[in-house]
Amino acid sequence: MKTGSHVAGKWFHPQSDRITKNINPAQLDEVIAEFPAATAEDTDRAIDAASQAYLSWSKTPAPERGRILWRAAEIARSRHEEISNLMTREEGKIIQEARGETSKGINVLEFYAGEGFRIEGKTLPSEVRDTFTCTIRRPLGVVGLITPWNFPWAIPVWKIAPALVAGNSVVFKPAELTPGSASLLVEIFQEAGLPDGVLNMVVGPGSQVGDRIVNHPAIRAISFTGSNAVGGALYTQAAQRGAKVTCEMGGKNAVLVLPDADLEKAAVAIHAGAFGSTGQRCTATSRVVVFPEVKDALLEALVEKARSIKVGNGLDESVTMGPAVDEKQYKTDLDYLDIAQNDGAKLIFGGGKDEEAGNGYFVKPTIFDDVTPNMRIFQEEVFGPILSVSTAQSIDEAISIGNAVEYGLTSSIFTQDIDAAMQFVEGVETGMVHINEPTIGGEAQLPFGGTKSTGVGEREMAQEGLNFFTELKTVFINFSGNADRAMIR
Ligand code: ADP
Repeated sequence: MKTGSHVAGKWFHPQSDRITKNINPAQLDEVIAEFPAATAEDTDRAIDAASQAYLSWSKTPAPERGRILWRAAEIARSRHEEISNLMTREEGKIIQEARGETSKGINVLEFYAGEGFRIEGKTLPSEVRDTFTCTIRRPLGVVGLITPWNFPWAIPVWKIAPALVAGNSVVFKPAELTPGSASLLVEIFQEAGLPDGVLNMVVGPGSQVGDRIVNHPAIRAISFTGSNAVGGALYTQAAQRGAKVTCEMGGKNAVLVLPDADLEKAAVAIHAGAFGSTGQRCTATSRVVVFPEVKDALLEALVEKARSIKVGNGLDESVTMGPAVDEKQYKTDLDYLDIAQNDGAKLIFGGGKDEEAGNGYFVKPTIFDDVTPNMRIFQEEVFGPILSVSTAQSIDEAISIGNAVEYGLTSSIFTQDIDAAMQFVEGVETGMVHINEPTIGGEAQLPFGGTKSTGVGEREMAQEGLNFFTELKTVFINFSGNADRAMIR
């Protein structure tokens, strides 16, 4: 595995006192990599390299750019297990989840490879005689991509692939906790034939590397996934200099369970959404809103499933939940157990460290009942395996409890009643809505993103994700000897 940063086609270890230490959160004595972090000056060099490479890359035909993505997908497929294995070791997610994420990244590469044939504008009629008018989509220039640790392979792919196929060059800053998966991706693009300088990766602290990306005048667009604190601040800074921004931030996603629901199916979905990836997904299910008549039966099913979870090192195929990603997240998870109980929530399962699971940041899957909207555990994103259960008496009340948070990423309802389902689809304030499905997941061809405090800017993935990395140019072509545009009303 390559380590360090990557600028103008070359891997290097920056001259810096700060060390990036990549450790396995399920096996704390395993150091995966250790190397000097990049600085603001390294970031400037990456931006210069990207500006230089843009000149030729932006002129490369889009289908040809797409073919490089396709080759990257093929290489990634041939290295599938290596990518998945590294992801489990550096992020902690179980190997089955890592394999799923690797496959998803490959799907996204394939989808955007095809988009190279379809970067489209519109032809529209003009008011002026003998005039042809249309729009074309052009790349933006150098774009900055800032990604979190929870999907260390798929999120970088779903930003880098559309940026590249649209003809931009990239300065990419992965999370410092997960540089390994990011490095494999860069290595794969290099092997696929991406020209030097088109994709540069700078591994270093957000306060230096991220900040320089956000404030450098040559960076024309920023795509960020991470916390609301960082996203909100960088949105303001980038907006002041007129850069385009998309931010995908927190979630506090609810599943509604109505009395006519298939309770076993609902329990399976809620369980997967709450405890999959140790709850470290922006689409995780962190709240359940259930009707009183089915609450006991649902809770019994949820507790039984939670009891069957085996916490531990995700490389062991029998383990079903990995650790928190680092000490900070581990402490956050444990703090929220106290916060919830002090606010009056009733602990019905789990709660606390899982010390038997090994030498890692292991916490038990946890379920709280009697959670009300005034409690912090109802309102705040924990990013851990903690599920809160609330009660509602009617569909209107359930939707209003579902909406009573600042976030709006995803949601789900379990019911057989089409009227209730459609009322939910229209009334719920989230960017994605599921019916009789978990809150999690996304597909390459479907727009991904949220409303309210969750997101600003364009949706990611799909054609919308590509559009973000382009700008529209409106073209007017007159083919008569006499055109006076000033005469148009
Ligand atoms: P999380 O830790 O949950 O991934 P963060 O918002 O802290 O969420 O980090 C997301 C990404 O933003 C990471 O790559 C991080 O290094 C980066 N980042 C942190 N601070 C800044 C900043 N001031 N400017 C730009 N990027 C930053």
